[in-house]
Order: sequence, then structure tokens, then C-alpha cells
Amino acid sequence: QPPAGENARVTPMMEQFIEIKAANPDCLLFYRMGDFYELFFEDAEIASRALGIVLTKRGKHLGNDIPMCGVPVERSDEYLHRLIALGHRVAVCEQLEDPAEAKKRGGKSVVQRGVVRLVTPGTLTEDTLLDAKRNNYLLALASTRPSSDTEYRRFALAWIDISTGEFRVTECDNGSLSAEIARIDPGEIVVSDALYSDEDISPLLRQFEHVMPLTRDVFDGATAERRLSDYFSVATTESFGSLSRVELTAAAACVTYVERTQFGKRPPLSPPLRESAGASLAIDAATRANLELLRTLSGERRGSLFSAIDRTVTSAGSRLLAQHLAAPLTDPDAISHRLDAVEFFTSDPPIRSDIRDQLKAAPDLARALTRLVVGRGGPRDLAAIRDGLAASDALGSRLSKMPDMPADLARAANGLRQPSQSLLHDLSAALADELPAFKRDGGFIRSGYDTALDETRALRDQSRKVIAELQARYADETGLKALKIKHNNVLGYFVEVTAQHGEKLMAPPLNARFIHRQTLAGQVRFTTTELGELEAKIVSAADRVLGLELEIFERLTRDITSDGDNIKAAAEALATLDIASGLATLAVERDYTRPHIDRSLVFTIDGGRHPVVEQSISEPFIANDCDLSPPPHAGDGATGAGRIWLLTGPNMAGKSTFLRQNALIAILAQMGSFVPARQARIGVIDRLFSRVGAADDLARGRSTFMVEMVETAAILNQASERSLVILDEIGRGTATFDGLSIAWASVEHLHEVNRCRSLFATHFHELTALAAKMPRIHNATMRVKEWQGDVVFLHEVMAGAADRSYGIQVAKLAGLPASVIERAKVVLAELEADDRGKPALRGFEDLPLFQAVKQAQPPAQDDAPSAVIAALNALHPDEMSPRQAMDALYALKQTL
Ligand code: ADP
Repeated sequence: QPPAGENARVTPMMEQFIEIKAANPDCLLFYRMGDFYELFFEDAEIASRALGIVLTKRGKHLGNDIPMCGVPVERSDEYLHRLIALGHRVAVCEQLEDPAEAKKRGGKSVVQRGVVRLVTPGTLTEDTLLDAKRNNYLLALASTRPSSDTEYRRFALAWIDISTGEFRVTECDNGSLSAEIARIDPGEIVVSDALYSDEDISPLLRQFEHVMPLTRDVFDGATAERRLSDYFSVATTESFGSLSRVELTAAAACVTYVERTQFGKRPPLSPPLRESAGASLAIDAATRANLELLRTLSGERRGSLFSAIDRTVTSAGSRLLAQHLAAPLTDPDAISHRLDAVEFFTSDPPIRSDIRDQLKAAPDLARALTRLVVGRGGPRDLAAIRDGLAASDALGSRLSKMPDMPADLARAANGLRQPSQSLLHDLSAALADELPAFKRDGGFIRSGYDTALDETRALRDQSRKVIAELQARYADETGLKALKIKHNNVLGYFVEVTAQHGEKLMAPPLNARFIHRQTLAGQVRFTTTELGELEAKIVSAADRVLGLELEIFERLTRDITSDGDNIKAAAEALATLDIASGLATLAVERDYTRPHIDRSLVFTIDGGRHPVVEQSISEPFIANDCDLSPPPHAGDGATGAGRIWLLTGPNMAGKSTFLRQNALIAILAQMGSFVPARQARIGVIDRLFSRVGAADDLARGRSTFMVEMVETAAILNQASERSLVILDEIGRGTATFDGLSIAWASVEHLHEVNRCRSLFATHFHELTALAAKMPRIHNATMRVKEWQGDVVFLHEVMAGAADRSYGIQVAKLAGLPASVIERAKVVLAELEADDRGKPALRGFEDLPLFQAVKQAQPPAQDDAPSAVIAALNALHPDEMSPRQAMDALYALKQTL
């Protein structure tokens, strides 16, 4: 209850604001007032801080000042973008009537307002808010409630890019949930309240940004089917294929959320397409990040695999390429189809460059279509549809003349020719050459297209001519040559003369006709009855012109909407052509080869290269072979299990590069790209695991070692015979013997239990002894050359084990002070000499592992320091002359 008193009265406008705000409590409310969106109270404080705009006050509420800030409507996209990026949600509240209407009602009437749209990170449509080269997905997550302990809990994911209409759904289990979400990489995730606070799921959800809990009704399984069939205006969802109940629930949650945020407007979604589990190569979030598939570890696109292979020329092509890269296939036939399309273009350079030139002219059809359908389109979206349809028509007829096209391209060629020809002709005839950004600016319909419009325009333009004549007449009558008739938004049309001539018009007899309006520093402004009448005529003619143009706009939009499915098909076909020809361009440019993919467990790469590193270094990249195929006669009856390569070699020799390049080649091959190798044969991989690079996850309270162990555990628990495992320097984050024993046991587990194709880089040379015991382990090392005491890396992988680690030489290359290097050499020689006297790790491989480690414990604490150490401790190199240092060195050597 507002307290009594003058200040405490709530104005009708505030009352309206409070009511609308109460209905949208989790959003910042953009409240339209004239040319501004205003924010009040806490919203104003949040927005002014986030956007760096001035916080002011407007009136009082319950005796207190009301904080306020505003953003101009014209530039609101830019502010929206920043707020969304910061994780805010915005409710856009518009004036639903002309303010004049409210005035007519008189008294305390306020302009009717209502929220027309919620802007959330996962439901954006504007080009200014979107990244043209990436999809922006809204993801809904639903789960079953297991009825017994033995029943597994299943999850369904449904995801939509409302800006393009793509809609997918799939089911997965707890184990792959995180990897699936990472693959989709959604802009926003919606879940039910219950799942949001579910203690099994909430830690997983916390890894992702922009997770939005929604009331249970959105995830109600009982109404899911009806909500979905309503959205698509179909009698039953059976036409979408057989979706499980939990999939239906997730899909329905998605469309319900879309409807809520778009306030009933229905963006043109494709029916949900079911992805069967296992259809794509599973890659967990850490592996995606470490392999820098779509962005580098520091979050940039440059330096990622994506940017190394992206040769697409359209945004839609670029988005599809990112999708393919995020989800390589596992079906050899489907992969072959994609490769056929790439090969088709590699073999015919003139066609390729022709097609790509035509693609360059194709704008983003899918996104323009969505904006038009949801009423957010402008004249340039119409033009985008026109140009997109023209390009797809031209490409369609070009391709249809080609013989022997692979299946994927034949299908694309067919898609290109679906949209209606008459729509294309109509758009071409209707649209003017120069188009304004907004339809309200008018002038986008070509003259000669519509007779009524032409006539009204003539009327309007005639009146303009009349104004010019009037100006000439007034100048003549008053004798003021400089008299001008001008226009602005405040005064409308007015007569303007310089200050010195103002007097003349304000004095009789002219003041009878010229009515004074405004005096400025240099000018005086007047109006006349004649001018006022003429203005009214001009305004109404201009209004009618705009009205007619808007009618045509709506009609064209309706025609486009009704051809929407065909336009989408054409958009998809364009994207397919773009990636096939783009990957072909890449293959030719960088000398990639077509991989051979089958259902075996082979993994043979001849002359493989790292696709990103080879593009970033100036010296030639050294190609290397890798063979993880099951040995033909493994001897232990294990034919069918893959090899493990144990890779040793000094730091900087190229171990990580080699490991990663093989994983990247597998990903490229399975996404349907040619690969950087002389020859590649791969039996499809179902899951790719990696443990490479070590970044502390301190935000979640995990040390490097803990992260490493959690990831290693996941691999050892989950990798199957069909998986590919890449392990780099396991056990580095702990004491040597701990680390060695963990690495040792992990290799044994991979060999005996997982039996998968694996690459294992390690600095524990002791591990190479395992090759003698285990038939499918192969030792490989990086070749290095010593030259005048320096180490030279040849980056060549060869059979065998590294003999030394060259750590000190690498340290020297890195520029450690010479005194430190010399000192380190002395200490190393000492340590090695010491080591030789002890049993240390000799005979180690014959012992049960943990017993061996116990024996190999470092010397007990109470051992006296050796004489050499004592002597070394007594030296003060900084105070010694070179001569003294030499003497000391000889003395030290004597004590050995
Ligand atoms: P390691 O993992 O053994 O420490 P990296 O794989 O990080 O070594 O390689 C070190 C550097 O050597 C890389 O940054 C790269 O520039 C270069 N390099 C690695 N492999 C090759 C290669 N095959 N050909 C040419 N340069 C290479």
C-alpha cells in the first residue's frame, strides 16, 4: 500500500511499469518511451553499470527518487548485444498504440504498452547480435525418472538455432551427457527447476554458461506431444520419426521456450531431426578444448583447426563447417559420400572456381528468412532472399547440366531449384537498387512496380516541387534572395532568412503573412498559412506512400514465408556446396589426400602433417608416419586390438605435435575432409580421448595433477576397442616414482583392458621396457642430432627409445644464463654418477609393479650428504676467478 502524501502517489505510468516488470522478474525491462528504451529502479542501476551509461532520476516512487537510464532505440541492438553477452536477459516492452490515441482518451490515460519479445542468449535473430559464422543454439535438457535402482537414467537433448530453423534431438546417458553438450556448444540451456537443483546434474550444468531453470510445465511429458504438433500444425508428431517420450519432452520444451520468448511469433523451424546415439564421433569437452578444434585454449578463432581449414565463402557454409567439425561421423558410407563431393571439386578446378564465385554472391538466406517470418525483417532481408534465390537458381542450373555427380551434390542441386521462380521474379521487379536499413524509412520499392504507389509518389513529389516554387515566389515578393524554405522534425516546413533580414518580415506589411516561429543566433524562422496547408498535403501524401510500400513489404514477406521450406532447402544446399568446394580448395592448396575409411581397426598414416602447425611455421614441416593398426600376428591371440605407440624424446622435439596431428587427421577424415598426409587409412573411431596439455582448473579447486588424473580415469574407464586415445606426459604432475608407476599401470591397462589404438608420449624412459613384455607396444622416438654440444631437433619419428633427455641443451636454447647451464651440467654429471651405483630401476620390469616402486624409494633422510655435495656447497662461484674455478673442478673430480 503506498503511504499517503504527495510524493507517495504512484503515477499511472509507474503503475503500468511495475505491473509489466512483475510479469518479467528475471529480465531487464526495456520500457519504450518515444525514441528511447528506458530502464528503471534496479534494472537502471544494473544497465548503467554494465553499459557505462549515465544513471539519472525520474520522479519519485514511495517518496524515493526513481533511478533511470535509457538507450536510444536506433542504437538499441548494440546495447542489447553487450547485455546479452554479459548473461542478462532483456524484455522489450513497446508502445502498442500511437501516443495520440492515449491523449484522446484524456485524463490519466497512459499509452498502452506490452512486452513483445524476450531477448535471451539462445534466441537471437538479428545479424548484429549474432556471429555470422557460428550457429547459436538454444538447448533443452530433459531426463527420465528411473523407476528402479537398476534402471539407467536417460537424458534427451533438443536444440534449435532459431535464426536458421535447425532443430535436432538426441538421447544419451549420464556418461556422455557432458560431451554431448560440449559438442552442441549452446548459447543458452534450459532445464526444469527440478533438474536444475538435482544434485547429480547441477555440478555438470555449472560447467556451462547461461543455464536457465524453467517451471515444470515447460517440461511436462504429458503435454509435450500436443505442444509440438501445435507448433508445426501437424496432427501427430509421428511424422517426425519415432521420438522417445523424453525426447519429445525436450523438443517440446524448446518450442515452448521459443514461443514464450517470441511472444507467439513462430520462427520457421524445421521439424526435429533425430540424431541416433553414436552417429557422431564422441569427443569430450576437455579434448575439444585441448585439440583447439573451434577455438584455441585462449578462446580465439585464429590458430584453431577450424580457421586452418575454413575456405568457405558464405556464412551459412562456415556454420555448417563448424557443425561438421564439431561432430565428425562414424558411418563409413556417410563419410564416403561427403568425401565424394569434395573429390568431385578437387578434380575439376574450373568448375570449382566458377561455383565459388557464384556462391560468394549468395547472402545468408536462412537468417533473413527467419527475421522476415518473425516480423523483424527489413528491406535488405528481402534483397538477401532475392540474391540468395538468384544465386541458388543459377547454381542449380549449372550443376544440373553436369554428368556423374556424387549423391550429396545431386541432392544439393535438387534443393537449389526448389524455391518458386515467380517469387524470385517478383522480388527482382519490386526492390529498388538502393535499400534503406529499416522499412519505416520507405523508398525501397522500385518505381514502375506498382501503379497506385507511383501515382501517390508523383503527388508527394509534386508538392515538393510546389514548395520550391513557393520559395522562389517568396524570395521574389520580399526581395530577399537568400530566403529559403527548409524542413526539420520539430517545426516541419518553415521559411528561413538571415538575422539581419528578419526585421523586414516582422514589420508591416509582410508581418501579415509571415508568422514568426523562432529566432536563432544567425537566422529567423517563419511560417505562413499557405505553407502550413501545403505541408499537411505533403505529409499525408508521404504517409500514403509509406503505407503502400509497407503493404507491398507485407505481401512479399507472406509469399516468402509460404515458400519458406523450399527456401530453407536451397539455403542448406548452398551451404553443402560451399563446404564441399571449400574443402576441395583446401585439399588442393595444401596438398591433402583422400583418406580411406572403413569398419576395420586400422590406423595407418603415411607422411602425416599437423594441419595447423604446418600453416604457421616458416620452415618446412617434417611429415611423419604412424601405424596403430592391430598387428597381423599379435602372438597373444589379441589380433583385433590396436597398437600402442610409446613416444619418447626430449622436450621441443615434436612429441605433442605428432600426437595431436594424428588425432586431428582422424577428426578431419571422419568429418569428410581430405587430410594432410601422403596416405591415410582409418577404421572408424567411435570416441576420441585425449589427455594433452595441462591447465589448472583452479576455479573448480583442482590442481593440475587432479585434472590430469580425473581425465585419465575417464579414459581408462570408457575407451573401447574402437576408440583412439592420445596421452601426453601422464604422471608429470607428481613425484617421479608416483608418476612413473601411474604411467606404467595406465599403459598396461590400455594394452590389456581397453585394447584401443593409442599414442602415449612420455618422459619416463623406463616405460620403453614394456615393449619387451607386451606385443602391441611399439617404441618410437623423435630424432635429435647433437652438433657442437647443441641439440638439433629433426622432428622425425623413428622406431626406438630416446637415449637422453637433452633437458639442459633445451634450457640453453631457451636462453637460461650460461652460468646456470654450466652449473646444471656439473650437477647432472654428479647425479648420473650417483645413480649408476644404485640398483634404481634396473630389472624393474620383471617385478610386480608396486613392490618395485617401494624398493626404488629415494635414500632415507639420515643419509649423510656425499663429500662431493659438501664440497659443492662450500663453493661460491661468484667470488672465484676462472683459475680458482678450474682448480675446484679438478679437486671435485678427484674425490670421485
Ligand atoms: P614436445 O611436445 O616434444 O615438447 P612440440 O610438439 O611442442 O614438442 O614441438 C615443438 C616445436 O617444434 C613446435 O612448436 C613446432 O614448431 C616444431 N615442430 C614440431 N614437430 C614438427 C615437425 N614435424 N616439423 C617441423 N616442425 C615441427
